[in-house]
Amino acid sequence: MALLELRDVEARYGPVRALGGVSLAVEQGQIVAVLGANGAGKTTTLRSISGTVKRSGQILFEGRPLGRRGPESIARLGVAHVPEGRGTFAEMSVEENLKLGAYVRRGSVDGDIARVSEYFPWIATRLSQHAGTLSGGEQQMLALARALMSHPRMLLLDEPSLGLAPLVTREIFRIVSELNEKEGLTVLVVEQNAAIALEVASYAYVLEVGKVAVSGPSEELARNENVRKSYLGY
Ligand code: ATP
Repeated sequence: MALLELRDVEARYGPVRALGGVSLAVEQGQIVAVLGANGAGKTTTLRSISGTVKRSGQILFEGRPLGRRGPESIARLGVAHVPEGRGTFAEMSVEENLKLGAYVRRGSVDGDIARVSEYFPWIATRLSQHAGTLSGGEQQMLALARALMSHPRMLLLDEPSLGLAPLVTREIFRIVSELNEKEGLTVLVVEQNAAIALEVASYAYVLEVGKVAVSGPSEELARNENVRKSYLGY
């Protein structure tokens, strides 16, 4: 059984239909990528899973339909969403941002800060710094760290490379791989940068105008010149 499954999911913003029946599956412990051009519906796919956009069709988490659950209830099931633009609070300190990530569960917040700092060592020494003064890469790392504070079963990661230099993007994806290998974290990542996403993910879906146009194991998609040229732009 897949950890997450979407069956024919539709979503709209008023009159704009953003998803026209998306079906996909993510197995426990897998990294899966959602690729596609601007406006293809990648962000909306993640939003429909985290309950931050109105959707229809079926979404199953551990085989159970999410039904009408809202964002908080879905977060409590163990789904952490790192949104496009990261969603960290610029006026709050690194520590306050991390504590916000822990709100959906009980346990030692300090212990969890120490745990996430193993992946982002700079965090331990910068807890009192305002998030707004961090570099773009650090802000993305903070957003990831904040999501990890809730001990998620599944991470929804929206466009982590946005606005970052290639080396920093590579470092972020390296950490995502490490989290997947060491903690078995399941990840659904949306990316514009198809090349790097296909290196890290084992399976990928390519969206085109709100529907899955192609899907397959990452290696196969990366090897297929037609797919690369027609959908992935490289
Ligand atoms: P990008 O990489 O540019 O973010 P995307 O693949 O993530 O693109 P979405 O953001 O999911 O695409 O958008 C899918 C469609 O829904 C697009 O046509 C977009 O214009 C539309 N859309 C997205 N957000 C809204 C909104 N808040 N109001 C109206 N239409 C929206």
